[in-house]
Amino acid sequence: MCSAAKLIACHECDQLQREIPLPPAGAAICCRCGALLYRNGSASLDRPLALLLAAAMVFVLANAFPIVGIEAKGNHNATTLFGAVLTLWDEDMPLVAGLVFFTTMLAPAFELAITIFVLGLLYFGVALRALPLLLRVVLALEPWSMIEVFMLGVLVSVVKLSHLAGIVPGIALWAYAALMVLLAASSAALDAHGLWDRIPAGR
Ligand SMILES: [Zn+2]
Repeated sequence: MCSAAKLIACHECDQLQREIPLPPAGAAICCRCGALLYRNGSASLDRPLALLLAAAMVFVLANAFPIVGIEAKGNHNATTLFGAVLTLWDEDMPLVAGLVFFTTMLAPAFELAITIFVLGLLYFGVALRALPLLLRVVLALEPWSMIEVFMLGVLVSVVKLSHLAGIVPGIALWAYAALMVLLAASSAALDAHGLWDRIPAGR
């Protein structure tokens, strides 16, 4: 019988099975339900780290510049995301303001910062006892980062408002679109299974 460290549980049906080494670009599937267990992705951290650093820079731009500007009757108004949060707060909608702040600013910022920190430590071979904890924090924050939902909401609002006033897309709107692409690309480039293997006693 193999040791516990060599066993892996299927995420779909909880079937325990032995973890086996895979050929390059190979994938392991569950022997009972056929669900994907893990892939043998690229072990290189170069690409995910570069994409995440680019995402962090774009994230700063997305929060520093206005999302959209509205032109009506000769007046021009533009606001940043944080300005929109403050407006929601002033309009007696503290719950909505808090949710927008947490899901579009705080959670993505923490997720980006901690992921870059963890990958940076692994990249330079720095051993830190808190690495497994940090990685779990990243995984816990992931569902709360809702930039895609926010973008969808902004686009619906822009289309509806375009009938009433002139809409000028701000730098932050393009930055958020780029951020979505960069985060998806970094997630695809990152081999989460391989990441745990790089951390000593990470499981
Ligand atoms: Zn299964």
